[in-house]
Amino acid sequence: MTTPAQLSVLSQADATFRARELREKGARHLLGTFVDSAGVLRAKQVSIDRAPVFHSPGLGASPVWVIFCVDDAIAFTPSFGVVGDMRLRADLDSAVSLGDGSAWAPTELADQDGQPLAFCPRGTLRRQQAAAEADGLEILAATEIEFVAFDATGKSVAGRGGPAYGLAPLLEHAAFVDDVHRDFDHAGLAIEQLHAEYGPGQIELSVAPAAPLQAADANVLARVLLCRAGRRHGLRLSFSPRPFAAGVGNGAHVHWSFRRAGAPLLSGGTGPHGLTEGGAAVLGGFVRWLPEVIGALAPSLLSGLRLQPSHWSGAFACWGLENREAAVRLCAATPGNPRGANVEVKCIDPSANPYVVNALLLGLARRGLEERVPLPAETTRDPGPMTDDQRAQAGIVRLESNQSAMLDLLERFKIAQEILGAGLLEALLAVRRHEVEIARSASIEELVERFRFTWSV
Ligand code: GLU
Ligand code: MG
Repeated sequence: MTTPAQLSVLSQADATFRARELREKGARHLLGTFVDSAGVLRAKQVSIDRAPVFHSPGLGASPVWVIFCVDDAIAFTPSFGVVGDMRLRADLDSAVSLGDGSAWAPTELADQDGQPLAFCPRGTLRRQQAAAEADGLEILAATEIEFVAFDATGKSVAGRGGPAYGLAPLLEHAAFVDDVHRDFDHAGLAIEQLHAEYGPGQIELSVAPAAPLQAADANVLARVLLCRAGRRHGLRLSFSPRPFAAGVGNGAHVHWSFRRAGAPLLSGGTGPHGLTEGGAAVLGGFVRWLPEVIGALAPSLLSGLRLQPSHWSGAFACWGLENREAAVRLCAATPGNPRGANVEVKCIDPSANPYVVNALLLGLARRGLEERVPLPAETTRDPGPMTDDQRAQAGIVRLESNQSAMLDLLERFKIAQEILGAGLLEALLAVRRHEVEIARSASIEELVERFRFTWSV
């Protein structure tokens, strides 16, 4: 199936049919989510009979929805102010019933005449995906979902909080975990695996790969499903990159695979580990440009605290086969990887907007292919303990963890502007620069606590 470059508008009859299908699955209302420039989920809701209206012409929203900040301040810019109006349009083709009377759909931004707005994050990813398909590329992506379960106070980890990868946390939260499986199944989102992660109270699950737009939707839907289930069990789930002042954070790594003319790019070639020329160029592009775009992948006031060596967070722009300290980890086509070779971009965290993340990485993959970016030497060891000189010699760049500096790099990076468009980039920079100001006058402990649930629902 090819992706239309604009949200396809259903006929009244088709939209009504979709609403009826959702109602038959038990939905009494539709929740439409919008992920803003701060990575925060905003939403509107209609009764299920009004779903066709939410789809077209859509529900009104002020342009400030694009420049809301983590603290609900508004980061006005020359392009986004108090004048004007937009429409949030629910994509009913992507709507699913959540059980318990709700349905969910992602939304896209249009103007009052129904024209797509160029700065819509989901619309931007849609255009990248349509362009990649027109280039003959088939791309799959999947986000790893990590979170920490806190008790109802939101201050302490729920239960014993360990051991890492233990059975105990799964049994301790068995009723919640069982609801999670049931709810994901009901919503048609396949969980590939679920486990207790390394950090106290941390849980991870993976979902099946999908086209990048659908993978970003799955990331949002997973968060909605998880937080709803958590609430039923007195758990508050943190998707903060830094749920505690110390220890590991929550990542939102994205695994990618690429095919052209039916053949995989990351295996079956003559390059290292079977990379094809195209596959090598994609990896080369990621490694070359990750330092410029980290301000969109790990962009929040807490992201830099996570993006540290020895945290498996991919703090270094380099690549390596199964290297968990490299921002770009190649997983080769072995019998142990039944879906084939894929590349994991590890430096991403859940405070980023997943549509922006996937649009950027998809755009960089296309650009890497186009420019035939050479593949640098593989990093076969942990870059953390290397000296600065050794890293410099090996061409390994430490990703910027200072928020202000990473935003400056992003602003200066022309390719990001080409991929995201000037409007979206302007909004992202303004909203994140507001965070730089917030962080100036607060301690790490205060920030961690204040924004622990900012990226939850
Ligand atoms: N929690 C780690 C992070 O912040 C990732 C651990 C893993 O490799 O899954 O990225
Ligand atoms: Mg993990």
